[in-house]
Amino acid sequence: MKKNPDTMFASDQIEKLRSMSEPLLSWYETHARALPWRIDHAPYRVWVSEIMLQQTRVEAVIPYFECFLHALPNLPALARAPEDQLLKLWEGLGYYSRVRNMQKAAQSVVQGGGTELPESYEQLLALPGIGPYTAGAIASIAFGIPVPAVDGNVLRVLARLLACGDDIALPPVKHAFEQADAGLLPQNRPGDYNQAMMELGATVCLPNAAPRCAICPVRVFCAAEKEGSPQMYPYKSPKKPRVIEERTVFVVVAEKKVLLRRRTDKGLLAGMWELPNLSGWLEAGEISAVLAGWGIEDAAPSALDNGKHIFTHIEWRMKGVLALSCACTPVEGSIWANAAEIAERYALPSAFRPYARLLPELLS
Ligand code: SF4
Repeated sequence: MKKNPDTMFASDQIEKLRSMSEPLLSWYETHARALPWRIDHAPYRVWVSEIMLQQTRVEAVIPYFECFLHALPNLPALARAPEDQLLKLWEGLGYYSRVRNMQKAAQSVVQGGGTELPESYEQLLALPGIGPYTAGAIASIAFGIPVPAVDGNVLRVLARLLACGDDIALPPVKHAFEQADAGLLPQNRPGDYNQAMMELGATVCLPNAAPRCAICPVRVFCAAEKEGSPQMYPYKSPKKPRVIEERTVFVVVAEKKVLLRRRTDKGLLAGMWELPNLSGWLEAGEISAVLAGWGIEDAAPSALDNGKHIFTHIEWRMKGVLALSCACTPVEGSIWANAAEIAERYALPSAFRPYARLLPELLS
């Protein structure tokens, strides 16, 4: 039976949770991690941090955040940044459409005559790449607007507090949690409340280990802990297995340069530079034919170690081929890049890391 989001939780369940904001906020004041984006809640900084933190751990994001803010300190600078610079600053974070959407959003603000993100949840939500969670985080943290920001951490905490066994991957269930969270949000400190819930999920009500209920500031409110089975929540339906793709990756080197190709503007890693690669594990004859097709006839190809990269829904199993040529033969749709250009200009997706890490030596 389909649930009505507005009636999924009984009103007395929500009522009981209303007084948890006080101990939660006190705990946050003393236990919040000192993170660079918490020093200054300027909307641009909150936005950059929230987009970077999607799918990426806090520790990994910190150096990226600082580097990005140094290179592109404000929204107009982001709007006018060349694409290669943008992708280079994002190199290694993955999900490159996130930063491309950020630039589209920045350009749309600048075209409208603005220099900063709009101070309205609805207007934030209308910008490219900004969904309900990000709009809620920016609106509440930067502007003090009382709207919820429900990410995976907050969903988990709420599912446990309410002992709700519904599938949090289902949009109506997620919507119901957002509605419930909106009812719990203290109007005077929405940004602190949202951050406290995220922090609780990240450091106490843990996702892949036993929750640390003994030190939890909202333990007395928690239905799952009362049941004695917090780890049973939240329920997530099993993920579809990833599609396995075999690929042959070419590391073609000549005159201390490597051959790079630009991917098409659609699909996986759209528009990114890459080491040329083809579907399937090619045999020796096929490899020679591919190189000949690029006009590279003098290289005796040799095998490199196999590599693997996991995307969200696809897994690449890669066979590497090294081809050393004498001359940088022009190849359509490709460029030859030296070590300095690889380091400073061209962003190579992490998928190619098993082979990209060989480049400093090969290009020296
Ligand atoms: Fe999570 Fe335990 Fe706190 Fe409940 S008591 S919110 S399960 S850490």
